[in-house]
Amino acid sequence: MSETRAQAVVWFQAAGCTGCSISLMNADYPNLKNLLLDELVPGKALILRFHATLMGLTGQPALEVLERVREEEAGAYLLVVEGAIPTGEDGRFGRVGDIPMAERVRELALRSAGVVALGTCAAYGGIPAGAPNPTSCVGVGEFFRREGIGIPVINVPGCPPHPRWFVETVAQLIFNPSAIGQLDEVGRLRSVYPGLIHENCPRRADFDVGRFAASFGEAGCLLKLGCKGPYTSSRCPTHRWNGGVNWCIEAGHPCLGCCEPEFPDFPAPLFRKVRAEDAAAFYRRNLCAR
Ligand code: SF4
Ligand code: SF4
Repeated sequence: MSETRAQAVVWFQAAGCTGCSISLMNADYPNLKNLLLDELVPGKALILRFHATLMGLTGQPALEVLERVREEEAGAYLLVVEGAIPTGEDGRFGRVGDIPMAERVRELALRSAGVVALGTCAAYGGIPAGAPNPTSCVGVGEFFRREGIGIPVINVPGCPPHPRWFVETVAQLIFNPSAIGQLDEVGRLRSVYPGLIHENCPRRADFDVGRFAASFGEAGCLLKLGCKGPYTSSRCPTHRWNGGVNWCIEAGHPCLGCCEPEFPDFPAPLFRKVRAEDAAAFYRRNLCAR
């Protein structure tokens, strides 16, 4: 029988709310135990070497683990970044162990085997980078571009991302590293973010006949209440949330476009219909991305 090989993971939390970690902890299948103890793909399992929320250690002993893994497993660990990178005021807005988050991410990335930006904050800046962005937060890819770090980043956006999107992305990277060439123009795996919510929405028939809800709780398409489903790539309609119980639009809430680089500034005001000129530009980008 072939031996199971462990893929070390360093999970670094920058400027965020920990919601992406919580989303993964809530996964029903594969659940956290499956993810951490079982084989993710045949012959390969993950081993989480550092995660500030999940690990028992805190403070300096935890940071010593981080630094040890960075040195001892250089070139072998997968770096998962959760949260945006605060770049303002020389990193004063976010430090871990008195070292700016930006510096930590740079050091960890340069010794990693690959980088996954988990959640919209890590992927594109997200809520921490929302206007007026006083901390000058950026996503990991933009941070690398500014720093001249030529390491590709795989984005797994969502606020938070569905646990399946993370699991599928990591499984593909481990099983088929050439998948890194199959990214859309905003850095997501095409197979994980294959199409617009609008194409699979249970309220699409209402849209097609022009039946629109005018207030919350009404039947009909939610476009006039600010739905961004026509501009948002995600599999929420088929994966649903909380173990498949429900998801935003079926619960009567418009999609807020949380998987897109423009979130949260473009979709705001969140509950107002998108202006036609904004919609045209946004829709064109999404069509190009597929
Ligand atoms: S509710 Fe949103 S995603 Fe669904 S059909 Fe209407 S605009 Fe499209
Ligand atoms: S429906 Fe839209 S806002 Fe809701 S989780 Fe999915 S992408 Fe995000």
